[in-house]
Amino acid sequence: MSDPGVGDSLGARLYQEELARHARDQNAIIAADTGTGKTLISAMVALFLVPKVPLVDQQRAFLEENTPFKVRGYSGAMGVDYWDKTAWTKEFMGVDILVMTPQIFLNILRHAHWSIDRVSIIVFDEIHNCKGKSPEALIMMEHYHTIPNGLPRPKILGLTASPIFNPKKPVAALAEIEKLTDCKVYVVKAHTEDLAKHTFQAEDMIVDYPPTPSIFPRYPVVSLWVELTMTRLLPDFTLFPGKPKDTMSGNRGGPWFTTLENRYNTTRKALGPFGADLFVYVHVFTALETIKKDLLPIFTDRPDPDAEKRSHLDDLYEILAKHEHRLLTSHELLSEEWLSPKLLRLRELLLKQDSTSFRGIIFTYERQIATTLSLMFPRLGIPGVRAGPIVGHGLHACSVPEILGMKGMPFKTQDKVVADFRMGGLNLIIATSVAEEGLDFPLCSFVCRFDPPRTLPQYIQSRGRARMAGSTFVIMLEEGPSKERETVEALQVGEIRAKTMYGSNMDREDDEVELDENTPKDDGLEGRFIVEKTGASLTPAGSISLLNNLCSLIPRDDHTRSLQPVYETDPVTFRTTNRLPPALPIPREDLLFVSDPFCRTKKAAKRNAAFKAVLRLYELGVFDDFLLPIRREKGDTAEDIDGKPPVDVTGIVPMMDVLVHDPWGDMWRESSPIYVHQLALSDRKGRMGLVCGNRLMPFDGYMTALKQEVHVRLEKGVMLELEPEVRQQQLALMDSFMKIGIKAAITRRGLTNRSAVFLVPLDSSGQPDWDEIEHCVYTPSSTDWRAVDLSGKSDVFVSLLSQGGISKFVACRPDLNVTECIEADAHLAKYVASLAKFGRTISEDDTVLQCRPIFSITSTEFRDPARQKPGILSDTDVFIPQSVCQWLNLDEDRLRWFSSLPPLFHLLSSVYRARLLHSRLGVPELDLDRTIEALTIPQACASFNNQRLETLGDSFLKVATTIHVLNKFPHKHEGQLTSLRQNSVCNRYLLGRGHAQNLVSFMNIEPNSQSRWRITPVSTKYINSRSFVERVIPRRSVQDCMEALLGVAWLSGGDKAGLRVGTRLGLCFGGTVPWAERYPKVELAFSSSSPFPPLEENLGYTFKDKSLLVEALTHPSFVSGSASYQRLEFLGDAVLDLVTVEHFFHLYPNATSGKLTRARARCVCNSTLSALGTKKLEIHKAMFCDAISLVAAANKTARMFNSMDFTQVIDNIWRLDAPKALGDMVEALIGAVFVDSGWNYNIVKDVVIRLFKEVLDYIHPDMPLDPTSEFMIWVAKHGCTQARYRKASSSEKVEPWKDQVFVTIHGIDVGPPGSIQPKTSPVLARAEASVSARKLLEDPMSEFFFEKLCTCSAEEKKQGAEVYQAAVDVVTDEGDLNPETVEGFAISAQDQLLREYVAPTVTTEDQEERTEWVHAIL
Ligand SMILES: [Zn+2]
Repeated sequence: MSDPGVGDSLGARLYQEELARHARDQNAIIAADTGTGKTLISAMVALFLVPKVPLVDQQRAFLEENTPFKVRGYSGAMGVDYWDKTAWTKEFMGVDILVMTPQIFLNILRHAHWSIDRVSIIVFDEIHNCKGKSPEALIMMEHYHTIPNGLPRPKILGLTASPIFNPKKPVAALAEIEKLTDCKVYVVKAHTEDLAKHTFQAEDMIVDYPPTPSIFPRYPVVSLWVELTMTRLLPDFTLFPGKPKDTMSGNRGGPWFTTLENRYNTTRKALGPFGADLFVYVHVFTALETIKKDLLPIFTDRPDPDAEKRSHLDDLYEILAKHEHRLLTSHELLSEEWLSPKLLRLRELLLKQDSTSFRGIIFTYERQIATTLSLMFPRLGIPGVRAGPIVGHGLHACSVPEILGMKGMPFKTQDKVVADFRMGGLNLIIATSVAEEGLDFPLCSFVCRFDPPRTLPQYIQSRGRARMAGSTFVIMLEEGPSKERETVEALQVGEIRAKTMYGSNMDREDDEVELDENTPKDDGLEGRFIVEKTGASLTPAGSISLLNNLCSLIPRDDHTRSLQPVYETDPVTFRTTNRLPPALPIPREDLLFVSDPFCRTKKAAKRNAAFKAVLRLYELGVFDDFLLPIRREKGDTAEDIDGKPPVDVTGIVPMMDVLVHDPWGDMWRESSPIYVHQLALSDRKGRMGLVCGNRLMPFDGYMTALKQEVHVRLEKGVMLELEPEVRQQQLALMDSFMKIGIKAAITRRGLTNRSAVFLVPLDSSGQPDWDEIEHCVYTPSSTDWRAVDLSGKSDVFVSLLSQGGISKFVACRPDLNVTECIEADAHLAKYVASLAKFGRTISEDDTVLQCRPIFSITSTEFRDPARQKPGILSDTDVFIPQSVCQWLNLDEDRLRWFSSLPPLFHLLSSVYRARLLHSRLGVPELDLDRTIEALTIPQACASFNNQRLETLGDSFLKVATTIHVLNKFPHKHEGQLTSLRQNSVCNRYLLGRGHAQNLVSFMNIEPNSQSRWRITPVSTKYINSRSFVERVIPRRSVQDCMEALLGVAWLSGGDKAGLRVGTRLGLCFGGTVPWAERYPKVELAFSSSSPFPPLEENLGYTFKDKSLLVEALTHPSFVSGSASYQRLEFLGDAVLDLVTVEHFFHLYPNATSGKLTRARARCVCNSTLSALGTKKLEIHKAMFCDAISLVAAANKTARMFNSMDFTQVIDNIWRLDAPKALGDMVEALIGAVFVDSGWNYNIVKDVVIRLFKEVLDYIHPDMPLDPTSEFMIWVAKHGCTQARYRKASSSEKVEPWKDQVFVTIHGIDVGPPGSIQPKTSPVLARAEASVSARKLLEDPMSEFFFEKLCTCSAEEKKQGAEVYQAAVDVVTDEGDLNPETVEGFAISAQDQLLREYVAPTVTTEDQEERTEWVHAIL
C-alpha cells in the first residue's frame, strides 16, 4: 500500500495502539489526519461503511490484504438493491467484514433484511458525514438510538480527519456528532511525538490572485457564447423547452438555459473566457448528441414530425463547427490574455514545481471546472504535466470520450483515472470533492485548493493528500477581504481549537466563545467548592451544565416549553441574573441569582451566577453529596433513599435450593426430645395426641375438612419421657399405629418410611394410650366374626382379604344370592376368580354383606370446601360375600380423625412458619391467616396464594416509600424523587432485602395433594436446634412475599404495622413512627381565603392551608407564584393507587391479582382522572397555567367529557385523549388533601371514595382487558416470540403530526398502523394497532393470517416462553420494558399471562384421586 501510515510496517505503532485502545473500550470517533493509518486501527470489524462508491472496492481490497478476515464489498452495481432477506442473510452469515455505502446498509435495515443489533461493530469511514439527513445519520437515528437500553447494540467506530464541519461552534458541533453517533472523539494524546515522526504535514500556503475582469479585450469579440445568444439559438424552446411561464414573462430561458448560463459565468470567473466557451461547447455538443439520438428516423413517404428540431440542430451544429478548431482541436498554446488571473496564478505555481517527480491534485467545487481545466491543460504550456479530471458519479454518456465527465463520471472511468494516476500516465488530477474522502491516491507533492475549503474535513482531508516531505499545500483566495478568506482563517484556528478539544476535558458548556474573542485567561477553578464528605468538587465552569441537567430532569408535557435557567447579562457591567424555572420546588426567593459585580467577562459572570445557584441548591438538598441531581446507576449498585447499599443479588439463581422451616423435627434421632400435644377437633370425639420432635405452640383456630368448618384446638406440647431402652420400640409402636390409620383413611398403598409425626390415642393423663395402641397394632383385623355385632347398631368396617379398600358395613342381605352378586360386580368377579386359583371357592349360601366404600382423603386443602369431599363415605353400596371379608379394628370416628390429617398437617405447618416469622419480625399482632396467605406461593397450588396481598402490599410499599422520600427531600423535584424512589422499591432491591431476611425459609410451597408434602424425617436438617427441610423455590417469590407481608401488615394494623414490618424488613420507610405523628401538622391559616370555593366544595374537603390547593393547581409552565403540582402529584398518585386497590381488594375477595391491578388501572388512568377533574371539579377553570395551548386543550377536553357519562368514559378509555396535566392535577389534589389532613389516610381515603364514586361503582374486576394487554396475552398464548410494536419513523408517516404504531410479527407490519391525534403517548396508538392487527391475524383469508406469518417452531416457542418467563422476575419493574422490542414485548406478554393465570386453580376430585398424598413419602 502506498499509505505511509501502514505501508512500511503493519506492526501497530504506539499512537495507533493508543487510538485502538479507545476504540476497544467504547464507541469512539478516531480523529486523526489522513495517513496515520486509521484504516488499520479499525481492522477488527464486521461492517465497514464508506461514503463513496469507489471506496468500497478500495477498502475491501485493503482489508483483505491486511487482515485475516473474510471481506466482501457491495455496491449498487451488483444489483444489491433488489436482494431479499435470504440473500442478505447469506451474506451476513458468510462473511466477517462487509464493506458498503451507508445508503445500502440503511436500505437493508429499513427493509429488515438484517437488524442492527446483529452487527458487532460498525465502522463509519469519514464519520463527519453523519449529520442532517445523511444515510449515516439516519442509520443512527432510526436504527441505533432506537435500540432499547440494556439490549445489545453494535459498537460504533468512526474514522475521520475532523469530526466537525463548523469550526465556529466547535463545542456544539462536537457535542452534536458525539450525541448522534453515540461516540467519544479521540485524538492521539499520549504519543504525539510518535505520531509526528510518522507523519508529515504540509504548511498552508495562501496564494492571492486578482479578481477576474469583466472584459478580456484580446479575446474574440464574437465568442461562442455571444454567437449562440445573439443568433437566439439559445435559449431554444424547441430543443430545450422551458415552462410556458418563463416564455410569457419574458425570461430569457428555461431552467436548462439558466443552469447553463450560471455555469458559464462561474467557469468564466474561474478560468477566463476561453474556458467558459470551451465548457459551453462541450455542454451544448453533449446535449445535441442526446437530442439527436432521440429523434425519429426519417421516412420519405410521410411528413417529418421532427423537422423543426432537425433544422435547429443543424443551425447549432453549424455554429459549434465554427468554433471547433479554436476551442477543441487546435494544439496551439493559449494566449495568456484569454485566461483568468486565477488560472495564470495556478500556472505560475505549477511552473515552479519540479516536473520530474511531480504529482499533484487540484481541488475545485464544480465538475465542469475540473473537466474543462483538464481539457485546457495541454495548451497551458506547462512542461511535464499530464492532467486528467476526476469528478463524482454520473451517467451522462457522450459519444466523444474526451469530453466525458462534464456532468459526472461512471465509476469505471473514475477507476481508470485513478489507475492512470497511480501508474504515472497522469501526474495531475483535477478533482471535485470525490477525491477528498478516502480515494486511495498515491502521495502528492502538490495539492492546490483552486476553490478554498469550506469545512474542517475538507480542509484537513485535502491537505492530507500532500503528505510527501516538502510538499506544497496551496489555498487560492481572491485578493482583499472576503467571506472565503474569513472561512479559511477560521478553519486554521478552528483546527487547532478542535484538536485541543478532542484531547482534553475542555469546558464543553462554553458555546458562545467566538474564535477571535480575546478573553483573558480564565482557568475556571476560581472559588472551587468541595464537599468534604465525598470529595466531590464544583467549579463555576461546571455549574452551568449542572443546572441545565437538573432542570432537564423536571418532567414536562407537550404544552410546556423547555424548563431551563434563563441568564440575562447587562452588556455594560456584565452583571448576570440567573432565573431558575419556577416549577422547581424551592423557596421562591431562591429562584433568582445575581452574579458578583465586576466579573471580567460575560462568560465569567454567567458562570458566577450559576455557581451561586448550585451552592444554594446544594444547601437545600437538591443536589446530593456527590453534587449530582440524581444517581444514574440502576439495579444492583444503586443506593436506596437513605444511602444504604443494596444487597448484592447477582448470585441468586432463578430457582433456589433452600432450607425451609419444618414443623415436626426428627424424634427418631436419639438426642431429640419428643413432645405430645393434645388435639381436639370439633366434630371428632374426644381428643388425640400429636407426637413429634418439636414443641409446637398452642393453636386454637378453624379449618375446613370434608366441606365442614372444624374447630382445631392444639394444646401446648408436653415432653414425652420414654425409657431409653424402650424408646425405639415405643416409637415403632406409634409409627405402626400411624401407618394403619394412614392406610385406612388416606392412602391404600400405605406408608413405608418412618413417620415424623404421629397421631395417637391418649389416656386420661394425656399420655399415649399404650394399651389401645397395642390393641390396634396387634389386632388390626380379623376373620373371626363371632364377636362382631352385625345388627347394624354399631360401626363395623370391613375389607376384602389382602386388599386395601375399606367399606363400612351397612346390613346383612340374606335375600341376595351370592353368585348373582359376584356376577353383577366386575371388580368382585375378578377378585373371586383370582382366589379360585388358590383353590378357594365361595359357598352358595355365603352371607352377602351390603357395605359402603370409604374414600381416601389426600387433599391438603384446608380452606376451600369446594375442593373437598363431602364426607368419608361413598354414596353407592357394594355387595360382598362375608367369607372373603375381614373386619377391621377401626371406628368411624378414628377414620375421620385420620382423614383430617392432610389438611390439618398443612395448616399446622403453615401456622408454624407464620408464627416463627411473626416472632422474627417482632410483630405478633399480624393476622395469622393473612400471614399464611402471604407465605403461600402460587406454586403451592392451594386455593389461595400471596398474589392478591402482593398487589395490595405493592401499593403500600409505594405510598410508604413516597412519603418518606418526599419529606426527606423537600426541595427535590418530581423527576429526582421518582428516580430515588425507584431504587428503593424495585424488584432487585426487594429481592436483596428479602434474601437478607432469609424469607424463603418461611414459605409454603408444598403443593396441595401432591407428592411433595412430606411427613417423613428423611431430609430433616438441624441448624441452631431448628429443623429444616430442603425445597426448591423460585427467586421471584422473595419480592412477592416481601410485598405480600406489607399487605398483611397494612390490613392488620394500618400504617403503624406496615411501617414496623417494612422497617424490620430493611425497607426505606423513614422509620416506624406513624405518619401523622412523624411530620408537623398543617396549621389552620385564618387569613387565607379559598381561591376556589366551589372546587373545595366539590372535593368535599376544606383546606386548612390554601397554598397547598394553589400548588396542586399550578402547572409547570406558570411563571409566577407557587412551585408546580408535580410533587403533590407524585404523592397523590401513590395514595390513589393504595385507596383503589384496597377498595377492590375488599369488595372482590375472589378477584385475582391481575384483575385487581386491571381494575385499579382503569380508575387511575389519565382519561378517568381527567374526566373526574373536569366534570366534578372543573379544574380546567381553576388551573394556574401559562401555556395557552394547554388551556385550549383542557377546555376542549372538558367539553368532550361533558357530553359523556362516566360509564362511557370508562368503556372508551383506550380511545380518549386528554391532556396529562388534567389527570396530574387530580392526583395532586389528592396528595394535597393527604398533606393538609396531617397525613391522615382515612380522611384522604374518604375524599377519594367520594370523588370516585361513579367510577368505583362501575368498574368491575371482570371488565375486558385493554386491547394492548389482551393482544399481548393472545400472542403469548400462541407462543410466538417475534412480535413487537413498531413506531412509524418520521419518513414513513403520511400524517407527520400523528403518532403511528404498527404491530410487527416476524418483521412484517400487520396491516395499517394504529394512529392517534397529535401529541399524545403512543399507548393509545398501540391499543388501536392491537385491535386492527388482531382482526387480520385471526382471519384465515387475510394475507396477515397469524398461522402464515408466525414461523416459530414448536421448540422455539417452548424455549422462548421459558426464557421470557424466567426474565419476568428480574426486569418487570415499571418502565423497564419496551414493547417496541421483541424481547420487551415477549417479557411483558409473559408477565401478563402469568398474572392472568397464576390464579388459584381448582383441582377436581379426579385429580385429587390421582395424586397420592402420603405416597409421597417414598
Ligand atoms: Zn412466531
